[in-house]
Amino acid sequence: MGRVIAVGEGGRPQAPVRDDRFGDVLGLVVARNLLGRPLLTPQCRDFDHADEIRRALYRSAKYYCSCGHSSCTRRYRNYPAGGQPGGCPHGGQRISARADVVKDADGRYYVQVTFRDKTAAMQAIVDKYGPDPDNWPYNPWARRIRKDD
Ligand SMILES: [Zn+2]
Repeated sequence: MGRVIAVGEGGRPQAPVRDDRFGDVLGLVVARNLLGRPLLTPQCRDFDHADEIRRALYRSAKYYCSCGHSSCTRRYRNYPAGGQPGGCPHGGQRISARADVVKDADGRYYVQVTFRDKTAAMQAIVDKYGPDPDNWPYNPWARRIRKDD
């Protein structure tokens, strides 16, 4: 029997939980100080391809820590929880991504992505909206808080 692939929405193979195929790209982005700059991927085959790249970029950022330990973001959350202080114990940098599929005038698809330092991004929100997540336009912990209640 071959490899079993879970089927997700629309009958397509379900995306793997972990995806860090762009981990090396993130390493370069950090090393070359390209955080905060919009970057454009090479041309994608079509919209679906671009959309897959977009999601992979998000996931790669989610699992990336500059300390280089592949399990760091799984073992150590970005924020304090469960008696742990949160963040990388090795002083590594965590990254957030904003990625959009874009199309040029000739109908060619690309992904435009901006990576940011996660701590700085969070600090910017706190500076603007205050420390209470209830006052933020988007509360990333809302679902977790509801579930724990
Ligand atoms: Zn780390």
